[in-house]
Amino acid sequence: MDQIKIENLEIYAYHGVFAEEKEKGQLFYINATLDTDLRRAGQTDDLSASTHYGEVALLLQKKMTEQSYDLIEKAAEVCAEAVLLQFPLVHGITLELRKPDAPIPLPFESVSVVIHRGWKKAYIALGSNMGDSRGHLDGAVEAMKADKHIRVRKVSDYIVTKPYGGVEQEDFLNGAVAVETLYSPEELLDKLHEIEASHDRQRLVHWGPRTLDLDILLYEDLVMDTSDLTIPHRDMHNRDFVLKPMVQIAPYVKHPLSGRTMEQMLEQNKME
Ligand code: ADP
Ligand code: MG
Repeated sequence: MDQIKIENLEIYAYHGVFAEEKEKGQLFYINATLDTDLRRAGQTDDLSASTHYGEVALLLQKKMTEQSYDLIEKAAEVCAEAVLLQFPLVHGITLELRKPDAPIPLPFESVSVVIHRGWKKAYIALGSNMGDSRGHLDGAVEAMKADKHIRVRKVSDYIVTKPYGGVEQEDFLNGAVAVETLYSPEELLDKLHEIEASHDRQRLVHWGPRTLDLDILLYEDLVMDTSDLTIPHRDMHNRDFVLKPMVQIAPYVKHPLSGRTMEQMLEQNKME
């Protein structure tokens, strides 16, 4: 990936745990590396095909000075997020925030934090079999669109499917959504639970009827398994109601464990 770099951007600001730091202020330095594709700008010589580094620098200054934080971790987080939200061609940012006059009672040159943040690709399964199912799925997509930390890229058609897991209940309506998000996997799950709750989702019977079920299928090529969250979704490769909508929006995306594409997994299930 191509990069734009801003080095040692000097900003006078008021971050620090000590009262004196918030009163007097001190100099901070930022190194920012923006991950972005520069090919089109290189071909066209047109600024609108690139990201204006002058504007990025001014935004960093604004974010560094509009509020004082105790921690440079917090200031760095706020700066990185602002750049990712305001400059659509920037996929990722590595940001170093340096504080050479930090209150350390020993000789030292500098102290800094370095963070990397970016838009992550994720796929989310939608399901409903209670009430106005189409309305619930549409509502979930709208709620994701309304969140600035989520960019909805593709929405599959909704398909009617038979219930899974042996509980007697209504047919389901299922779909899948491709997003890019600034949320971590855990934050994304919290957000999805929040959206489910706003659609009167109650957790009564496992695999039972629900107004809205939102599951994380994939998150980049991450593989994780904690008590709250398993990615890729544990059973996705066996579920046609997940694979069919996924084949529509992401046929060649691979399952990170088996290496098989959505299309291959669906074909495999047909043969079994
Ligand atoms: P299910 O989706 O299996 O029918 P629930 O929606 O009630 O059941 O989810 C139960 C729990 O599954 C959630 O509270 C969540 O902690 C956990 N979970 C584990 N992995 C995932 C995932 N990839 N996406 C969504 N929830 C998950
Ligand atoms: Mg669920």
